[in-house]
This record gives sequence, structure tokens and C-alpha cells, in this order.
Amino acid sequence: MRFRTAVLFLCLTVSTTISAEDRARGERATGADVADFEVETLIEPEGREFFHFVFAPDGFRDTDEDRALFLEQVERNTTAIRTQEPFASLHDKLKFSVAWVPSKNAGIPDTAEYDRDEGVWRDKISGKTTVFQTKLNVGRYIIEIGNYHSVLAAVDAVEGRVDNLIVIANEKSYGGGARHPVDLPGVAFHVHRESDTPLDYQEALERFTFGVTIVSCEPDIAERILIHELGHSIANLGEEYFRADLTFPDDENHPGLKKPNVSGTDDRDQIKWKDLFGKNGVGAYEGAEGYGKGVFRPWDTGCIMRSERNTAFCPVCDRAIREAMREAMRMEAASAAVR
Ligand SMILES: [Zn+2]
Repeated sequence: MRFRTAVLFLCLTVSTTISAEDRARGERATGADVADFEVETLIEPEGREFFHFVFAPDGFRDTDEDRALFLEQVERNTTAIRTQEPFASLHDKLKFSVAWVPSKNAGIPDTAEYDRDEGVWRDKISGKTTVFQTKLNVGRYIIEIGNYHSVLAAVDAVEGRVDNLIVIANEKSYGGGARHPVDLPGVAFHVHRESDTPLDYQEALERFTFGVTIVSCEPDIAERILIHELGHSIANLGEEYFRADLTFPDDENHPGLKKPNVSGTDDRDQIKWKDLFGKNGVGAYEGAEGYGKGVFRPWDTGCIMRSERNTAFCPVCDRAIREAMREAMRMEAASAAVR
């Protein structure tokens, strides 16, 4: 598989052009410009219906060594996606591109550490400059993006629709993060540094129609972290892990309850996955979204949303990912038809 992917990488490289309109849009942004991104299609599926993953680097310098390191991570993660169900059975509809842009410094600029006395996360500014300003929260394992102008510039540099932007952070610690399109406009609007040009909220709603996934270069399981995070960023899946002593908030509008694999009830006639209940180990197991009580998940221990070391998504998560990808492919086909 590794060899086959490597061959595809060599054979299917197609350069794209950037329209004047996209270039003008990017010039309004703070940080990276569309013209800064060097876009290549790595794997081009046949037909109009496809799901487009675009990889971009953060914390990789403009050196042969860093570029090779980034492409090594791209290949590793592409192979993981193409061999993991439900992506594997859609492999002939998966498009992969890279939007290369170097950072001034190697590694991630900021980390955050938990201040136990104050109960808050504190940034540790290192002075490094990167394109997306990804951030590793030490001990929490989440990498955040600080510059959403650069996210838009990366997406605008790519011809056609982007379904999932995967930012690879040059950092060997465990780390990953995800934003589903339902959350991204709000996050992009609010996550601003004082020096940034503010994003317009209406524009954010219209333009952030893709998922964003972030993953580190952790040597052993980064590609497994990515697969877990794609569950969040593609299908808005919730966590199936939890802390036993925490109780889910008593709030019927809690965003966790909107997730396809999270239920506030264990009543098999009411539960959102009732058609799958009782088959292939699907039931209502207490504990999800980080809370041990008052909320339920479909599988006991085996789902990738429980642990990235698991090898399969449970049937509820598997179906949610397939449905989200099919919906995105229909949108891709529709937008191709009017171009
Ligand atoms: Zn699941």
C-alpha cells in the first residue's frame, strides 16, 4: 500500500491555476495570501462526485528537508485515510491535494499550559512565526488554529470546492483538533488576535463550508489521531470517551446532543440510532462527550471515537461519515455543473 501510494503521488500531480478573483479575495486577508500557496493535486478521481481533502503545512520552513518531512506526513496520512473504512470503500471518490506554504520558523509558535491555581489555559508566546498559528495545549492534546485568514487563503488557492482542510503541524508531541462546518464560521469569527483584521460574520457563514482538521507529526499514531479527528470534522461526531465521575449538563439544547453518536436517552424506541439498535453490538452505553453519566454512546469500547487506537468506527459513526461525505459529493457535483 505504501508503495502504491508513492507511485500515485508521482503520476497524478496536476498543477492548478488561481483566478484573479481568488487572488483579490486573498489579498484582503491578514497572514498568508492565496498567491503564497503552491497547490498540487496528488490523487485525482474520475468523475464529478468526489470528496476533496487538502493538506497544508504549519511550522515547516522553506527548505528541502522540511518540505520532504511535510510530504512524508501527507503520504502517511493519505494512506491511513485510503485504508480506513468507511473511507476505503469510497477510495475512488477521494481527491487529495496539497497547498504548500512555508513558515518562517520550524515548529509550532505557541503552546498553552494549564494553570491549576487559576483554572485557566495560559499561552506561552515563543515569538515563532507560522502561517496558521497552530497551538498545542500541553496536557490537553488539542491543537488550535489562530489565523483563519490563512485558512481561507489556503482554500481560495485551491481550484473548486474543498471539503476538508488538514493542517499538519510540525510538532512531534501527541496532538490533534477538528472543526466541523457547523462550528467553523463562529470559531473563525471569534478566534482573533488583536492584530488581525476582523472577519465579517456573514462572509464567514458563507465561506467556511468545509471542515478543518489539525494533526501533529507524532511518530507512532499521528495518522490514527487524524482518523479520529476526521470523525469530528466530517460528520460532527462526538467523543465516545468520558470521565466516569462527570455528569452531562441538564440542558436539552446542549450541542453535544446534536451529534449523531451521542444521545440523551437510552430508550431504544427513542434513541436516534434505533434502527441499528441490537445489531452488531449497537446499544446505549452510558458515557460520551467526556461525561460518564446522563449521556449515551452506541458501542461499548470499540469505536475510533472512543480511542484512536481502535481499528473501526461503530456502525452509527460509520453511517454518519458516509452520509456526510455523500452529501458533500452531491454539492461538489452540483457546483461543478454550474461552473
Ligand atoms: Zn462511534
